[in-house]
Amino acid sequence: MKYKRILLKLSGEALMGNRQYGIDPQRLAEYANEIKRIVDKGVQVAIVIGGGNIFRGVAGASKGMDRVQGDHMGMLATVINGLALQGACEDAGIQTRLQSAIQINEVAEPFIRRRAIRHLEKGRVVIFGGGTGNPYFTTDSAAVLRAIEINADVILKGTRVDGIYTSDPEKDVNATKFDFITFEDVLKKGLKVMDTTAFTLSQENELPIIVFDMNKKDNLYKVVAGENIGTRVNL
Ligand code: UDP
Repeated sequence: MKYKRILLKLSGEALMGNRQYGIDPQRLAEYANEIKRIVDKGVQVAIVIGGGNIFRGVAGASKGMDRVQGDHMGMLATVINGLALQGACEDAGIQTRLQSAIQINEVAEPFIRRRAIRHLEKGRVVIFGGGTGNPYFTTDSAAVLRAIEINADVILKGTRVDGIYTSDPEKDVNATKFDFITFEDVLKKGLKVMDTTAFTLSQENELPIIVFDMNKKDNLYKVVAGENIGTRVNL
């Protein structure tokens, strides 16, 4: 396996499957099986989970809700998703710990960096819920932050498209995919990989990002094994 310790970012929307809202248990089970394959190979897996399938603070604010309160709701949504993913991983036979950036002690461990690393060393999957614990941030920023903190080799952004394109492939038939691209070119070309805060944090810390289609069977395994799947963003 090319990577020994990875940070997998899954958006909340990924958990919806074909639904319009919430969580699809079958999709969760599929993800858990994909994760198990790499855990069985000795890869240390940390996951940051989004909350967009349940609530986004920006969406609430656009309807007149207080932004900070909305973001708190969004962060709680990520904890809900984290619990669901933890359940699915345990059903698949993977030892899993959920750590939350916001204190919710009866439900999840608090985020403690050293403890998270210890879990990883013992072969446990660590799911980070609660984002960064701060409003006005996203779970992409949380993913980069946690990846740096635990010294992950790479961030794997699992999406429903198979990489970064010259334009949105769901809208433009002429869009072409990059196999590799530099951080600088992503910014120059105005491509959307992550929000700017998350993206520049990754760039400054020289942490590569691979965007790939998580919904295709075996893709996670292939990426971690070092196959050229998706798009790799490098320095
Ligand atoms: N959120 C936040 N701070 C964080 C991470 C998330 O306030 O550090 C809130 C924010 O309202 C966000 C919501 O949680 O809209 C869900 O996260 P995100 O939109 O990143 O989820 P995804 O798009 O990955 O499903």
